[in-house]
Amino acid sequence: MKKKTISLVAHDNRKQDLIQWCLNHKDQLAKHNLCATGTTGRLLEEKLGVEIKRYLSGPIGGDFQLGSAIVEGNIDMLIFFWDPLESMAHDPDIKALLRIATLYNIPMACNQSSADYFINSELMNTDYKKKLSVLENYHKTRDEFQTK
Ligand code: PGA
Repeated sequence: MKKKTISLVAHDNRKQDLIQWCLNHKDQLAKHNLCATGTTGRLLEEKLGVEIKRYLSGPIGGDFQLGSAIVEGNIDMLIFFWDPLESMAHDPDIKALLRIATLYNIPMACNQSSADYFINSELMNTDYKKKLSVLENYHKTRDEFQTK
């Protein structure tokens, strides 16, 4: 089985829930590569005692860096506990990350129960090949663009 690269992000009001979720699934997570936005990553490293590749903090570009890693094919899964009760200075970056993750068909869990389903999925232990039909259709329309 190929190790997955799991990216972890939580807004401040959701960080405790993500930390607890990670502690509950520490053994399963330890089988994979982990990465995170800056503060989330630092807290998780402290609490879990595992190595996590850290990007910048979300509000200063970390969400963009994660989005870029998705585009480059370096992320398999996004666990993003975003705060549904607060608006953020970096809302456009959050939207961009969610959009690019959707476009690249990245499995994405935005709350604890979705993350529970993910981590217990048998697909976690397979070399799952995701379809990129939205992207392929886009490329097709671009190829046809202005050739008529
Ligand atoms: P943080 O960023 O992990 O640095 O707090 C998360 C975010 O707000 O996107």
